[in-house]
Amino acid sequence: MIHIILFGPPGCGKGTQAKIISNKFGFIHLSTGMIFRDHMKKKTNLGKLASCYINKGILVPDAITTNMFYIEIQKYFNAKGIIYDGYPRTKNQIFSLEKILKKFCLGKINIIFYFFIQKNLIINRLLKRGKTSYRNDDTNIITVQRRIKEYEKETSLIWKNYKWKNNIIRLNASLSVEQISFFVEKKIINLL
Ligand code: AMP
Repeated sequence: MIHIILFGPPGCGKGTQAKIISNKFGFIHLSTGMIFRDHMKKKTNLGKLASCYINKGILVPDAITTNMFYIEIQKYFNAKGIIYDGYPRTKNQIFSLEKILKKFCLGKINIIFYFFIQKNLIINRLLKRGKTSYRNDDTNIITVQRRIKEYEKETSLIWKNYKWKNNIIRLNASLSVEQISFFVEKKIINLL
């Protein structure tokens, strides 16, 4: 089973690429943000809990996220591959993912695509997206800025450990959707 992580700040295009790649290769698109939003829409207990954090633009605590993720990933143990979009976001979440993959003999993290982009570009993209996505956390400039800050503080450095050196592929996220998916697809084909 193949495990591909799309990593980068909010608004860098992870979700768009995850959709394209998962369709192309028949992989599962696993987005923790989407799962939380689904719970919020259905007003489950998890959704109510998560919304307190999401609406403020801060990370949902690891204990809650990891629990949810553990339940979710078990639905996909027969998949060819999984594209992770928005997970892991902390070092603890990396450990949890590695632990699950090991426990259920599901292979290892194969590639981490690291999306790089200028801050002013992502702020504009997020505010623009907010107009059609109706995501609370995309429409408010303060929340958008808070999410970017949270990314810089809590998330951006989590793959710094030398052990991931050979798994990380950097990409320029200001290129077009087509250019990026072409690049990503080529790398994945090499893996198959
Ligand atoms: P996203 O759709 O990936 O932009 O996520 C939207 C929001 O959901 C984030 O701003 C966080 O509050 C929360 N969230 C999503 N994934 C995670 C995660 N792996 N860890 C903690 N919080 C998360």
